[in-house]
Formats: sequence, structure tokens, C-alpha cells
Amino acid sequence: MKKITIAIDGHSSCGKSTIAKELSAILGFRYVDSGAMYRAVTLFFLRNQIEFRHLNLVQESLKDISIAFKMNLENKLQEIFLNGENVEIEIRVNPRVASAVSDVSAISEVRKFLVKQQQKMGEEGGIVMDGRDIGTVVFPQAEIKIFVTADAKIRAQRRFDELKSKGQETTFEEVLANLEKRDSIDSTRDDSPLIKSKDAIELDTTNLSREQQLEFVLKLLNEKNATMS
Ligand code: C5P
Repeated sequence: MKKITIAIDGHSSCGKSTIAKELSAILGFRYVDSGAMYRAVTLFFLRNQIEFRHLNLVQESLKDISIAFKMNLENKLQEIFLNGENVEIEIRVNPRVASAVSDVSAISEVRKFLVKQQQKMGEEGGIVMDGRDIGTVVFPQAEIKIFVTADAKIRAQRRFDELKSKGQETTFEEVLANLEKRDSIDSTRDDSPLIKSKDAIELDTTNLSREQQLEFVLKLLNEKNATMS
């Protein structure tokens, strides 16, 4: 397959990253989880007690942040590093990150800082990136755009099960509340709100198994491939 760009956007915990990882493995493309980058910046602000409502402080501290992805050779999955430290687990299980990340992501300076890096990663194509603004802002020229969604309660249950399996103490109600709050901030912010790009194909995963989701996306790919060759 040609080294195309695949943008996968959608609501929190609707299965975007699972689909993106499976696709990238099948195609041999690079996978980038853009949400992990917003989470890593949030973790930096929390650890360094950066009052992120003060834009000059935010602007200054972005200069001290370096983000990189490295492949874990054992499980073949990408892990995120913040200033050289592997923070892959912490950004996902730390509840303070989950509650602050959407506020941090609404800051234009933060978005500019990360979008530039994401566009650089995709310069040569052959990439699958998931997030909220990939098809609308980061790669508006992406050959394939998918907008994933699912019923909020189903998403919260999946996220709750995932956190529990990682040993995190939380309740279903807390997870649902965080997810709905993030969806609301992400969809209503001024800069790059979460919206379905006009040319994106919608995938509702509420009643679909992982296999059915993958089947849907592979069918899309085959159709695209046929029109490109
Ligand atoms: O994908 P994930 O749920 O890990 O993303 C965490 C948060 O990062 C989202 O709720 C959203 O606020 C932000 N985000 C964003 N733009 C992206 C990816 C994530 O604003 N492209």
C-alpha cells in the first residue's frame, strides 16, 4: 500500500487507539497517539506546578518540554518519553492528568507546540495518528479520515475495565463523569474543537466487536486502494 496518511479522530475511549494500532501493524505504518502528547504536557505542568491559566508561564515552560516516542521492543508498542523519562503508564493512570488534560489542550500555545511536532512526524506519510483534530487541523490532506464514536456509558465501562485491570482505584461513575467532561470541553473549545471533518467516515463502535471494527476499516482501505491504483 502507498505510504498514505490515516487520521482517526473521535470521542474519548471509543476505541480509536486500538483501531489505529492494529491498522499500523497491518500496514507497517508508524502509529502516533497524539493524546499521549497532550497528557505528557499536562503531567509536566502538574509536576512543576505551572499555573496553566497564565499564558506567559505556559509559553515559557513549553521550551523545557521535550517529547519523544520510542518502540518497546518486547511488546512492539510505542511508549512516550517526557524529557527522557518513560511516562507511558503515569499519563494514563494518574487521575490528575485525566482531569486537567482537556483544560491544557484548550490552550492555543500548547496546541501550536504539539501540532508542529505531529506534522513533522507525518511529513513522509505512512502514518496512522489518532486524536481529536487530526483530520481537521493536523493532516487536513489525509487520504483516509475516520471519526469514531460510541455511546458514553459503553465508553466509560470500557475505560473503567481498563483502569481496573491496571490496578487503578476508581468507580464507574467517576470515569463516566471525567469522560463526559472531557468530551464537552474538547467539543466546545475555540481552538480546534473536536468535530467530524466533512470528508471523514463515521464509525460507531457501540455494538461492534474489535474484529468488526477492524473489518470496517480494512474495507475502507481496500476501497481507497482501488481508487488510488
Ligand atoms: O486520546 P486521549 O483520550 O488520551 O486524549 C486526552 C485528551 O487530550 C483529550 O481529552 C483532549 O483534551 C486532548 N487531545 C486533543 N487533541 C488531540 C488529542 C488529544 O485536544 N489531537
